[in-house]
Amino acid sequence: MSIEKTRPPHGGHGDQGITVLLKRMRDAVAEEVSAQDRLDLLTKVIASHVVADVCSIYLRRPDDVLELYSTQGLKREAVHNTRLNWGEGLVGLVAKRHSPMVTSEAPKHPAFAYRPETGEDPLHSFLGVPLVRSGKTLGVLVIQNRAAREYTFEEIEAVQAVATLLAEIAASGELLSVEETEAVGAMLHRPEKLKGFGIVSGVALGRAVFLQPPAPKHKVFAKDPAAEAARLEEGLTDLRRSVDQMITSNASLSGVSREVLETYRLFAYDRGWKDRLRAAVFSGLTAESAVDQVKAENRARLSQSRDPYLRERLHDLDDLSNRLLRHLSGEKNGGERDLFEETILFARTMGPAELLEYDRKRLKGLVLGEVSATSHVAIVARALKLPMVTGALDAMELTEEGDQAVIDGDAGGIHIRPPSEALEFYRVKQTRYHELEAIYASEKSLPSITKDGVEITIQMNAGLALDLPFLEGTGASGVGLFRTELQFLIGSQLPSVAMQESLYKEALDLADGKPVVFRTADIGGDKTAPYMDHGNEVNPAMGWRGVRMAVDRPGMIRPQLRALLSAAADQTLWVMFPFITLTAEVDEIKSLLDLEIDRARRHGKGLPKDIKIGVMIETPAAAWRADLIAQKVDFLSVGGNDLAQFYFAADRDSERVQRRYDPMNAGFLSFLKETVEKVSRTGTPLSYCGEQTADAVTAAALIGVGVRQFSLPAAFVGPFRRLVRSLDAAEISAWMEKHSVTPEATLRPSFTQFLKDSGAVVE
Ligand code: PEP
Ligand code: MG
Repeated sequence: MSIEKTRPPHGGHGDQGITVLLKRMRDAVAEEVSAQDRLDLLTKVIASHVVADVCSIYLRRPDDVLELYSTQGLKREAVHNTRLNWGEGLVGLVAKRHSPMVTSEAPKHPAFAYRPETGEDPLHSFLGVPLVRSGKTLGVLVIQNRAAREYTFEEIEAVQAVATLLAEIAASGELLSVEETEAVGAMLHRPEKLKGFGIVSGVALGRAVFLQPPAPKHKVFAKDPAAEAARLEEGLTDLRRSVDQMITSNASLSGVSREVLETYRLFAYDRGWKDRLRAAVFSGLTAESAVDQVKAENRARLSQSRDPYLRERLHDLDDLSNRLLRHLSGEKNGGERDLFEETILFARTMGPAELLEYDRKRLKGLVLGEVSATSHVAIVARALKLPMVTGALDAMELTEEGDQAVIDGDAGGIHIRPPSEALEFYRVKQTRYHELEAIYASEKSLPSITKDGVEITIQMNAGLALDLPFLEGTGASGVGLFRTELQFLIGSQLPSVAMQESLYKEALDLADGKPVVFRTADIGGDKTAPYMDHGNEVNPAMGWRGVRMAVDRPGMIRPQLRALLSAAADQTLWVMFPFITLTAEVDEIKSLLDLEIDRARRHGKGLPKDIKIGVMIETPAAAWRADLIAQKVDFLSVGGNDLAQFYFAADRDSERVQRRYDPMNAGFLSFLKETVEKVSRTGTPLSYCGEQTADAVTAAALIGVGVRQFSLPAAFVGPFRRLVRSLDAAEISAWMEKHSVTPEATLRPSFTQFLKDSGAVVE
């Protein structure tokens, strides 16, 4: 049925009506009577307010059965007798789905479960709203009417507001008996096991801390409304001051980030918001509950909106309400907060700069809501070796700050309040992980040569100065891919030549003579900087990015080349250009480099003693002409992440097409083999820097198609060296040759079996 926004047929609803209702609820809760009588009084108050024939409260028992605890309108003998299983009947469905449900013809609904003892035969309309707290359904509030009528938007809103309060009261101990409140508490603190996506491997144990801490616990009703109003006023003044301060101290912010802050300011000063908060306080709520209350009303209103912009504003309003709650309780925000000795940070999203603000000794792992593997916060987390899991969207709702948490960055597991056996299991796994790291470190000087004597060069990928110490720690022979765009994406403005030069210099110093291949900024695609206008490209991954941007608008690449030339003065400069499709682009980009060399000479600046120019092969067009391109440069590197994306026409970041993006596909491997052979006939060295080599089976397959030089994330250098030493390159090549025309979708199972049979270390 549709939820129409019409005025209710009777007076007393809307904001005004809710205020009256809340007052009556406060009086009911304050009655010195038994818990059951108090509950009955509440159902009566609610029923009369929304003009319902029936108002019932079902509460969830520890065995997940929903029991009728109180009713106004159903037969009394049904109380504590009528029970529904989780998901059973309309009530069970509301609980299971976590969301309200309305129907004007309940008996006709396929999920309807008839309970004769309730005497509900003549009832037609049904409105059920879950009582949700900390992400868990504690019960269901049900409104029923004899007539087959449609509930108005205002009625639904009022019932939702009441349900929010009921859940809060149930958890606070103001409603139920001591034992029942304890049972609710136990339910809220049950262990939870969630499945997300492992983005940075490793196991982390610690206590949960939220990037935006949740609202602290508080009383629902207050005795002195005037005092609460004064607290509210003070909280609002503090909030406004802090938002103003945020805007002044981020004066350089532009684009979306700036917009977000301005919206915050608009909301913080909004008269209507303040009036509604005050009205809620004068109805008898504490300032904190008033904030919750108005937040729930906004939520009910805005979440129905078809306008995505308005729905998005809901997050801003929620964030602002949470900030106000923290001002009311005097708690600190974000990065200034004290961390536990071992902390797991939870956030819906976060930027790489925010991550860098946290104390690295105490921060052990990250749980983020909506972040992909190639996002910048993920790249920074990898550099910091912080295990990270994403995609478990309700993780924050099911967790409370201070809860014990374990994350498994390999399997994508998140355990909240794990039982002691699980904790023990992960401690062992973590120890094993550290032992393996120690083993890899002890093997860092062993030659990376296959059993049949083929030498494999191992370099590592980097993007921050923070990565460089891993060169020494892993024994990698250099940095085969330094993603310079990170510096451009992390900051709020274009980095100056001096800033760029200083980063490159620092990287070269830390590399201590080992080569560092600087890949010029690959901005565009999914990597957009807040201060850049890319227009509205429908398909940014295939849009104006990488070298295309560089040759069309040299204003950004030329200062970068200047910084690189200067940073590598008197050394060898390795510079690599991304996202080539046409051989002509190689000439264009080289002439830009020549212009900068001339400029440096004219200005009497020092220059590198040698310059090695390379390009990335990351489009099928470039792979097809790889031999021609190879003749124009000193080295090539296959960017397998992008090359596979364009070979399969499957977005590297899309979950849905992951199955179709398979580097173990026989066609893709034979395509690589031809590319490698084509290039090797020219004598130009070629490496592979796509992150697929993090997987041992794929890495072995790449050796099988002739790749002899790799650049991979630091964490995989150790395992990769072990793998290389356990392989027979000739055997693998022969296997690959034999299976290159196989029509099966993936060679993974058969090749894995082959590797295991031949004693390769693939796990
Ligand atoms: C690639 O595409 O394989 C690559 C290494 O570049 P990036 O992941 O930065 O796009
Ligand atoms: Mg790429």
